[in-house]
Amino acid sequence: MRLPRTHSIAQIEGIIVFRRGLRTGADEYNSLISEVRSKKHLSEKNNVKPLSGTSFIAKDNIAFPEGYTTCASKALSNYRSPFKATVIQQLEDAGSDLIGKANLDEFGMGSSNVESYFGPVINPAFENEKRIAGGSSGGSAAAVRSELSTFALGTDTGGSVRLPAAYTGVIGFKPTYGRVSRWGVIPYAQTLDTVGILGRDIGVVKQVFNTIDQHDEKDVTSVPEKIRSDWSGLPRLAEIKNTIIGVPEEFLVEELSSYSRQVWYDTLNALRKLGCTIKPVSIPSIRKSLSAYYTIVSAEAASNLSRYDGVRYGFNSADTPGTVHDIISRNRSSAFGQEVQRRIILGNYTLSSESGDHYLKATEVRKMLVKELNQVFSTQHMLFSDEKPNASGCDVLISPTYTSIPCTLDEYHNMNEENFLSSYTNDILTVPASLAGVPAISVPYQKQNTPNTKIPEAIQIIAQHGNDEFLLDFTKELMMRF
Ligand code: GLN
Repeated sequence: MRLPRTHSIAQIEGIIVFRRGLRTGADEYNSLISEVRSKKHLSEKNNVKPLSGTSFIAKDNIAFPEGYTTCASKALSNYRSPFKATVIQQLEDAGSDLIGKANLDEFGMGSSNVESYFGPVINPAFENEKRIAGGSSGGSAAAVRSELSTFALGTDTGGSVRLPAAYTGVIGFKPTYGRVSRWGVIPYAQTLDTVGILGRDIGVVKQVFNTIDQHDEKDVTSVPEKIRSDWSGLPRLAEIKNTIIGVPEEFLVEELSSYSRQVWYDTLNALRKLGCTIKPVSIPSIRKSLSAYYTIVSAEAASNLSRYDGVRYGFNSADTPGTVHDIISRNRSSAFGQEVQRRIILGNYTLSSESGDHYLKATEVRKMLVKELNQVFSTQHMLFSDEKPNASGCDVLISPTYTSIPCTLDEYHNMNEENFLSSYTNDILTVPASLAGVPAISVPYQKQNTPNTKIPEAIQIIAQHGNDEFLLDFTKELMMRF
């Protein structure tokens, strides 16, 4: 039986790649939805653990042994993971049910969720048009927006949780780098990859974070207990009216649409009315962040993806004979999509001697950014104990999350054909927090009774390294008032 392609089916089209071991086509959406409902019902009766009664969907670059873990790539379309990622185990132990895996831009590379082997995710926030959901965690964001699950996991390397959350009108939280285990998360760029949480309710996002905010000895980048205990001494939010909010002038970029400027302006105005102090600040390295990010990320991606040669790992197309070189190049050319191939070429060039010292220059920008960012915060960065905090600094920074509203799928294809770099500029507001490893969140901000209330509006809030609690508490207060 094929389901009629009704509006609601079209809305969730593309979100789910797999449902617990099965490939999901239109026929399966129905059973998926009834399964979600019955699980909710079941769990509600058995409310004994912190996350009992909740269900979640994980981005399909997070390993799970049932079904496939594909990274939305042909290279891994038949890959079955022998193990379960730590984050999934932690959530299941806390009583939550994993009900599916979500679509993404291939290996997390993209900001549209159009660059997937399984086709694009369509943004459920727009009723009559096919607009992008944002990426790369577009499936996770769309699933949360469509209420398929209580929350979803995504990964954020340069904005991939925050941007789709903003485009679909849900919350998207990227914790401090290293707080949440990445064991079992297929790497894109390991100095940046961070597991993030998407949800509709800030209380749920906090609860999920509390569950997965743990040291994991299997992950070498997991922050050790000693630093975690230093973090627990950082100041917490007292009253929202005492908050000092920094507004980095470098976020006022040319690409910022008047729509996003207005959302930013309205948010700051509303916060001022609540009694917060609004303070312009300057972080000059933000201007160089996007180029530093794309240099670092492509180099790391090229190195990580070199394992998919179709011999040891990944899709193997080779039934015609040839040299090892022929076989591997045939496998890789047919297994990876255009965007992934582009990053591999860019990254291998960056790492080659011909490129000069691009990679080193990018890491210098990154170091400078960390330092400048640290100087605008009023609290101590626990990894730089010899640098003193700025006594008259800020508690949080605020900017818009996106430069302009999500485009239609047709606009995306046209833009990409003309110049693929145009989609890279979508990340201009989100990459600085990723490069610095600091926590950041995208929060839906909906003014009441404006002609545009149908378009998801969003702001980004950034906090000092390790002070995720302040960020979440501030967000909660803010959401109660807006
Ligand atoms: N759009 C960015 C990129 O393609 C961010 C991706 C991400 O955060 N995974 O690199």
